[in-house]
Amino acid sequence: MTSSVSLKNQLSKAFCTKCGTSLDSAKFVPISEMPLITIAHAVCSNCRAENMVTITSIGLGVLPLESDLMSSEVRKYINVPAVSLEEVLQVHKKLKKESVCNLMHKKEKSSVKKQKA
Ligand SMILES: [Zn+2]
Repeated sequence: MTSSVSLKNQLSKAFCTKCGTSLDSAKFVPISEMPLITIAHAVCSNCRAENMVTITSIGLGVLPLESDLMSSEVRKYINVPAVSLEEVLQVHKKLKKESVCNLMHKKEKSSVKKQKA
């Protein structure tokens, strides 16, 4: 278990992937807290860039978050079960019948991603 105090302590050693500002004062939302790893979402207080912070017993890593997802949404999707082998096979079968372009086109209509300004 990682206490929030040590999380804050770890965050002071993490830096924004975009501007290099310390994430010490970033808006910080823990997404997944497991015994050996904590995954958190941190919004830089300086440039508003979103960063994914992973904290383990051997150190921490910061990755830029290339996503339009809000931290609450990331939290929602991170617990979604992994794609099963059966699902992969189904997609594979569909791809044999239809081109990727057609499949992608159909999907885009149902879930149009909003553009970032
Ligand atoms: Zn920044």
